[in-house]
Amino acid sequence: MSRPVRFNIHPKEATTADALGYANMPEGYSGEGFFTTQLSNVVGLARKNSLWPLPFATSCCGIEFMGTMGSHYDLARFGAERVGFSPRQCDLLMVMGTIAKKMAPVLRQVYLQMAEPRWVIAVGACASSGGIFDTYSVLQGIDQVIPVDVYVPGCPPRPEAILDGFMKIQELVGKESIRRRNSDEYKTLLSGYGIQ
Ligand code: SF4
Repeated sequence: MSRPVRFNIHPKEATTADALGYANMPEGYSGEGFFTTQLSNVVGLARKNSLWPLPFATSCCGIEFMGTMGSHYDLARFGAERVGFSPRQCDLLMVMGTIAKKMAPVLRQVYLQMAEPRWVIAVGACASSGGIFDTYSVLQGIDQVIPVDVYVPGCPPRPEAILDGFMKIQELVGKESIRRRNSDEYKTLLSGYGIQ
């Protein structure tokens, strides 16, 4: 027997007024007809609201990432819906899952193929520290092969935790000086990983 057709007799009025958000203006000086600020602030504002993630998902934490991308949590709200699978087009490497030692050189190569500036999130216990897999075959944290900016705890972390980690990255990106990548400190960090 076919189902009866139901109609919504009280349809909700669609309104976008509450759904739109605006980025806050960076610090600066304003007066009548002008506003000045630092170039770093403007670049940081643009970068933090247009991150392009590269999901490197090898196991269960990747499923949580799928939930994070879905309409309920909706990473697109942060300007990051453009998930890419070409390292050359992405600036945020999100590593989710157990990384076997055999996989480590591949992860490192993907990182190296990303253009500067690039940031890295280790999502979940496995990516951060090897998690429960304290075995000969599992990398005990991706920071053994590439530098990590934010660690998201949990096994698996809930989508809220992934969003929290993402927002921490946005904070870092927004505040980062455009000169940081040329600094001695940054070069020392990379050379510690054998990266020129
Ligand atoms: S942290 Fe837990 S949920 Fe995530 S990949 Fe490892 S075992 Fe799976």
